[in-house]
Amino acid sequence: MQRYFASTFNNQVILDKDDVFHLTKVMRVKSGDYIEIVDENHRPYLAVVVNVNPLIIEKQEPIIKNSELNKNVTLFFGLAKSDKVEFVIQKATELGASSVILFQGKRSVVKFSNEDFERKLPRFNAIAKEAAEQCHREIIPEIKYIKSINEVDKYMCDLNLFAYELSAGSTNGFDELIKSNLNSVSVIVGPEGGFDESEANYLDKLGFKRVSLGKRILRCETAAVYALSVLAFNIEK
Ligand code: SAH
Repeated sequence: MQRYFASTFNNQVILDKDDVFHLTKVMRVKSGDYIEIVDENHRPYLAVVVNVNPLIIEKQEPIIKNSELNKNVTLFFGLAKSDKVEFVIQKATELGASSVILFQGKRSVVKFSNEDFERKLPRFNAIAKEAAEQCHREIIPEIKYIKSINEVDKYMCDLNLFAYELSAGSTNGFDELIKSNLNSVSVIVGPEGGFDESEANYLDKLGFKRVSLGKRILRCETAAVYALSVLAFNIEK
């Protein structure tokens, strides 16, 4: 069943413009059809379409199933070309990340000013929202941008993992780091050019733990998907 993030007023469900279009023109919803909505408190509900034109949707009973990871997962992702960033935002959302923080790496080929980021943010947010609806999440991950790795410390978690290409090899120990008592985990993945030595030293100093994503050197977008998959797999087992 299709899920939408919505605001609610008493039992009335209010969808944004794009979702109204999707529901009425793409899904061609009819009165009496059911949809799932997630309200402003991140709670999912069943909802019924009472009328199509004008669109009237009523909130019904809560949906008990929860689809969120029981730990907050943050992905730090080195700035890459926009299509890669968009791919990673979509996949990180599907894999349960609660935030994606883009950073300008020393070896990032692409450079963003804060204004560039602000301009792209609505599109990044739309990708995260659509992916969160498609995979039935209760939250839409936050997308942020930091100018350099030196600001990583503001967003550190209980456990912080450093996917370092120079650690490529046996994946031994990666999954063992993910203990049940942790509330939050982050993983940092470098840009296409990888990490500069000074960046690696800085992450070591902050207490990031170096992890390997196997013997092959992965493209940055594959590395992000791999790392988040290992995290989700181990958190949900
Ligand atoms: N250009 C670099 C590779 C960068 S790969 C080189 O030739 O060495 C992009 C990012 O993906 C890396 O910075 C790292 O975060 C991650 N990555 C890719 N393969 C990895 C592996 N086997 N182990 C750990 N991290 C890896």
